Amino acid sequence: MSASDPRLERLIERLVQPESGVHAVLLYGSGQSPIRYWMDHLVAMWACKNPGPSGPCGECGPCRSENGGVDVQIIEPVSNPPIINLEMITEVDRPGKWEGVPVRRFVRTPPMMSPRKVVAITDFERANHRAANALLKTLEEPSPYARLILTTTRLSRVMRTIRSRCLCVGVPESREADLIWSKKPTNEETEQSLAELRSILELAVDSPNGAALRTGDQLRKWAAQWQKTNDISDRAALLDLLQFTADWLSHTHPERYNLRSAIQESHRLMISAHPTLLLDVLSLELTGSSRT
Ligand SMILES: [Zn+2]
Repeated sequence: MSASDPRLERLIERLVQPESGVHAVLLYGSGQSPIRYWMDHLVAMWACKNPGPSGPCGECGPCRSENGGVDVQIIEPVSNPPIINLEMITEVDRPGKWEGVPVRRFVRTPPMMSPRKVVAITDFERANHRAANALLKTLEEPSPYARLILTTTRLSRVMRTIRSRCLCVGVPESREADLIWSKKPTNEETEQSLAELRSILELAVDSPNGAALRTGDQLRKWAAQWQKTNDISDRAALLDLLQFTADWLSHTHPERYNLRSAIQESHRLMISAHPTLLLDVLSLELTGSSRT
């Protein structure tokens, strides 16, 4: 699977800078997305002593150690059905069969070889409630050298409090996955805008109705930015937004006809109502759809 993706490469390069301020990243995508590739890449970058634009240096202690060395811990769901349970996150009175070091104990001590302690937990949608809550504490009080990467192919099943404390990064299936738009991105800036719109929509669809206001705000800001970037009218920017939303829906949620009719309704409203109102209507439809 080719995982060449300049956007993610640049993003990860920025995450390695001390000033990024990001301690936790949630990588999400479909089962066909190269999520594991990007997780491994970010682990290696965070563990490396001298990461550069082209990747980890390949020469330092952590780079030459198996799996990034002693300061890296990768946790995967175990047992049948696979699950991330409490003992993987924190010490418990009666440990089960799992033999690893719980995350909270792992990040309590400073790194030995790497500049950071790096924990990656795969398939985090499989964390049970107690495990997710225990991890939340680590996210709320991050130690300065700890870095956490979560992955999921079911973003909506990851607790919203967890999501809100991570930088959520969508991993496209391939470069082809970006070609869902009826109007192709013309440069890097529009490409990034579309990736951003995609994240707004992905999160909106999985949110409860209460998040509609926030989604409406995000869409309004997005449309304003799009209008500036492309030097078009407010109305043209909104029409683009509606079209992109329709593109995205027919690509990712072809079964959600209620949403597509909501977009048609938005087009109709645009003629008669205040344009920003229609974004609220659309947001309400988007977020409410997870309830059906
Ligand atoms: Zn290195």
